[in-house]
Amino acid sequence: MTENKKTKTIKTIKVDVDKCNGCRACEVVCSAFHAQPRYSSNNPSRSRIRVIREPFSDIYVPVYAGEYAPAECAGRDKYVIDGKEYEECAFCRAACSSRDIFREPDSGLPLKCDMCESDPELPEPMCVKWCQADALVYEEREEEVQEEQKKEEMEIGLETLANQHGWQTIIDAVTRLSKKG
Ligand code: SF4
Ligand code: SF4
Repeated sequence: MTENKKTKTIKTIKVDVDKCNGCRACEVVCSAFHAQPRYSSNNPSRSRIRVIREPFSDIYVPVYAGEYAPAECAGRDKYVIDGKEYEECAFCRAACSSRDIFREPDSGLPLKCDMCESDPELPEPMCVKWCQADALVYEEREEEVQEEQKKEEMEIGLETLANQHGWQTIIDAVTRLSKKG
């Protein structure tokens, strides 16, 4: 394996939970931005960011969709925030088989935050732009990565998806998206 090291821009979003007011504008704009055609609809269940809301305690925690997990993890820790108990799963970023969050409602395929990279003209991701409370802050940093490793990770990810959903589901979803576009 050739170990070509390249510099890559790592994009992250810093979440300030104390500033979030639970308005859910981030969910709305994310789902609208990713609708086919773009902005033709909005549906928070298709959003790649979801807000855990506890209005009576004034607790709101935005969570971004991360990597797909093919199996449930063993972790079942609990968090107590302001006297209320939460399952560890509530704050997890993965789409996994134990819950419906971060799944495309029609196909069941996992959703993952893509930093809105499909529009390279955007100065910052849509959820950051629309968050009037400044709870989301876009940040970039440079890091060295190995090209071969990235490719292998992509192949493993696709194979895992195919094992879980079948190649036909993936092909159907891609065909449907390309027809709508
Ligand atoms: S848009 Fe900002 S304030 Fe509103 S729910 Fe999302 S993160 Fe919270
Ligand atoms: S960065 Fe883009 S894809 Fe990710 S949650 Fe925000 S709006 Fe959605």
